[in-house]
Amino acid sequence: MIAESWRAARSSVPPGHLDAAGCNVPSDRTLDAVVGHLRHEREVGGYRAVPDLHASRAALAALVGAGADDVALLESGTAAMAALLGGWPLPPGSRVGVTRAEYGSTLMLLYRLARLRDWKLLELPVDDDSRLDPGGLASMLAGGLDLVVLSHISSHRGVVQPAVAVGRLCRAAGVPLVLDVCQSLGHVDTGGAGATAYVGTSRKWLAGPRGVGFLIVPGLAGGMDAAAPALGGHAWVRGEAPAVGGHAWARGEAPAFGGQRVRAEAPAVGGHGWVKGEAAPLAGAARYETSEGPIAARAGFGVAVLEHRTLGPAAVHAHLAELGVTARRLLDGIGGWRAGEPLDEPSAIVTLRPPPGVDPETAVEDARSRAAEASLLIGTVPVGRAPADLPTPVLRISPSPGAYQEDLHALARVLDR
Ligand SMILES: *Cc1c(COP(=O)(O)O)cnc(C)c1O
Repeated sequence: MIAESWRAARSSVPPGHLDAAGCNVPSDRTLDAVVGHLRHEREVGGYRAVPDLHASRAALAALVGAGADDVALLESGTAAMAALLGGWPLPPGSRVGVTRAEYGSTLMLLYRLARLRDWKLLELPVDDDSRLDPGGLASMLAGGLDLVVLSHISSHRGVVQPAVAVGRLCRAAGVPLVLDVCQSLGHVDTGGAGATAYVGTSRKWLAGPRGVGFLIVPGLAGGMDAAAPALGGHAWVRGEAPAVGGHAWARGEAPAFGGQRVRAEAPAVGGHGWVKGEAAPLAGAARYETSEGPIAARAGFGVAVLEHRTLGPAAVHAHLAELGVTARRLLDGIGGWRAGEPLDEPSAIVTLRPPPGVDPETAVEDARSRAAEASLLIGTVPVGRAPADLPTPVLRISPSPGAYQEDLHALARVLDR
């Protein structure tokens, strides 16, 4: 039923598409919303063509138990994470917990922030499947952590992290949790974690267009702000302004952007713009959102989110888990390839590790191209995606809800040589 509805919403799908975790296939209505918005911008003027995304923001936020005002739309999951962590007001010496399976870009960002701001990165304990051990997390929280960053599902391994247990432990310890849901929202249940912030992306399991990522920040606390302030999400609150056209600001207040007032404390010599000032974030997650961006893609993303809700998240999750388990049982061991996660893991990310005794890079690339010859679109994951956790590159098979079982069998035949 889910598979049929998903396919019916798409007049075409790339043949043998098994790469939902890379870039999923948008529906016709999603594409129409993107193109329709671009046309509308041309007809009425870009700034006048503002899509009403309130219902979509509310539906998106509801997937993690948050509200529409907690949502900020950005350009990618990576941009969202950078905006969030780059502006996080952790003082020098702060301790940030991450697992070795954390996403490559997030690790790069954390390493840089740790160096620049003197944060300490602490490795959270995981088991052989790189699944976070809640008991180990509890002792580390007791030892003192200031932030925990966790990917609910990794890009390189279909293991579903115990987000609800992690969230409960972090809340009990008063430690903020950032949950990366790029690979889990639209794929598995993301409710009940109670995280401070969620980072996600459009084009994977929500099947939105490329070029959209998002933050959901139900736990916005004092001091949390975007890495860089911007008009649209911020207002001037104080400034020392120079003369404009020969007229200096008087000491006092003048209206400014966003309805807030600028207090100009000192006039300055003319012609040099603002010399001193302060930007205050607007209420809610709006402070993280860029006012300029691919507005048409955001409109398409809004439709994709509503379609996911209509399809029924719980039914989608169950169907995807079943597809993943079916794929692992079918593919594990074929041609010496081994599943990178437990066979019964309830996710539709299936990774396959190359057979022993062959050059892993060559084996992975060769399998991907043989699959392509058989009209099967699968992913490959390079070691850099999770350098501390991936010993070799792997194949990644990630069926969308509309995937055909026959394509999984065709892949088994390709790998069985
Ligand atoms: C894809 C992904 C990201 C980054 O999202 P982009 O939209 O590609 O920037 C972050 N974390 C995980 C786990 C991902 O799979």
